Amino acid sequence: MDAIVARNLTKRYGRTAAVEDVSFAIGRGEIVGFLGPNGAGKTTTLRMLAGLIRPSGGEGRVLGERVPGPGLRRVGTMIEEPSFYPYMTGRDNLRHAALLHGGVPARRIEEVLGFVKLDQAAEKRVRAYSQGMRQRLGLARSLLWEPEVLLLDEPTNGLDPVGIAEIRENLRAVAATGVTILVSSHILAEIEKLVDRILAIEAGKLVFDGPLDALLHRLDVTSVRYRLRATDGAVLLEALRDLGYAPEADGERGAHVDVPSADADGLVARLVRAGVEISDAERTTEDLEGAYLRLLKGDGRPS
Ligand code: ATP
Repeated sequence: MDAIVARNLTKRYGRTAAVEDVSFAIGRGEIVGFLGPNGAGKTTTLRMLAGLIRPSGGEGRVLGERVPGPGLRRVGTMIEEPSFYPYMTGRDNLRHAALLHGGVPARRIEEVLGFVKLDQAAEKRVRAYSQGMRQRLGLARSLLWEPEVLLLDEPTNGLDPVGIAEIRENLRAVAATGVTILVSSHILAEIEKLVDRILAIEAGKLVFDGPLDALLHRLDVTSVRYRLRATDGAVLLEALRDLGYAPEADGERGAHVDVPSADADGLVARLVRAGVEISDAERTTEDLEGAYLRLLKGDGRPS
């Protein structure tokens, strides 16, 4: 059984279609990125799947049941910026949410606080939380009921790179427990390290559905740029040259290098096998963002 299904989902506001005839199916345990620029229809789609608004046409199903319906008890959501009582502590906000919902054991509140690493800040008033802490508290709240499906709307919005990485780690850990996640973003680089598959939406229509590699392949992204750091920069440069690439030095210990997309996944492993001690490796994003922009200009076709 699929965990999330959109079947010809459509939402019209007057004469404009915010979402038009969108269909996809997400299997249990998948993490899917829902990508699109501002105003593309991501929030509207997620709201329909979460049962917050009714579609003008088509239907959403979660865990086999039509939404809105009882299946939503097993869904955790964070749609738009999470709101909390600012004069209450993080822990009290969660207690309050748990009370309203019912059936959440007290230990679960401590578990989710620990999970998003807010246990130390749990007694602070939310007024004093940074935006990243609020986003994490929102994630904690969405996890209170041990959901099987998570619908998250731009959970990294407005966060600095450290905050983005923290949310990403949290979501990876949630996914490792078998939870199905649909997470939206308007920036490919923010979700590409997290998701298995991408759904891209533009002007209310689905323009791509498939694995990231297929997106790159379709858009003919022939190379991927890596930023690497090693304990010894000279050894790193030499190993990259031995592999047939043309790296540029980046400080004493680092290098930038473009490698063909087909080789990209195994690059670090090959360097390690060649005896290089890699301390950091990051795919930089120019190629990805370029590919994505080309997709939106109409060079991609829905698969
Ligand atoms: P963002 O990244 O800015 O949140 P989005 O992809 O989530 O964008 P939506 O919020 O789903 O986009 O909006 C899609 C379109 O529907 C936009 O043109 C928006 O103006 C319109 N829209 C959304 N909600 C309403 C509403 N309640 N009434 C009228 N138009 C709406």
